[in-house]
Amino acid sequence: MRVGIGSDVHPIEPGRPCWMAGLLFPDADGCAGHSDGDVAAHALCDALLSAAGLGDVGAVFGVGRPEWAGVTGAAMLTEVRRLLAGEGFTVVNAAVQVIGNRPKIGPRRVEAQKVLGELLDAPVSVSGTTTDGLGLTGRGEGVAAIATCLLAECPQP
Ligand code: MG
Repeated sequence: MRVGIGSDVHPIEPGRPCWMAGLLFPDADGCAGHSDGDVAAHALCDALLSAAGLGDVGAVFGVGRPEWAGVTGAAMLTEVRRLLAGEGFTVVNAAVQVIGNRPKIGPRRVEAQKVLGELLDAPVSVSGTTTDGLGLTGRGEGVAAIATCLLAECPQP
């Protein structure tokens, strides 16, 4: 078994579509970034890569890899899962917490868990919190996410 941890923060860009935890939130502004700005998906990717010892999101999808520009969080998770499988890892479970004022995760938590769980073929817990008005997330300047995961290393045949 291998545990991993990941985090991400992006600035909010007024008017940008808000993708978060694999869902489109039409009533919120999205995050700026090299990709779709889905910090929950990015934090999950980082947790999975860290658990497998495969580096981080910046190395796999970063600005040095222009072919990944504008990619969706879902596509990134699919690619990470493919990389993990290549190393003989399967996902046991994962958890991600979104930290910010908007989008509101609670009303769509179950829906997000279903989408992310199907992408990783494992249970994914999604939660949300605020920072009570403090810091960059509290001022509505950005959204953060933190994630953990557990991988199983499958015996090689
Ligand atoms: Mg990111």
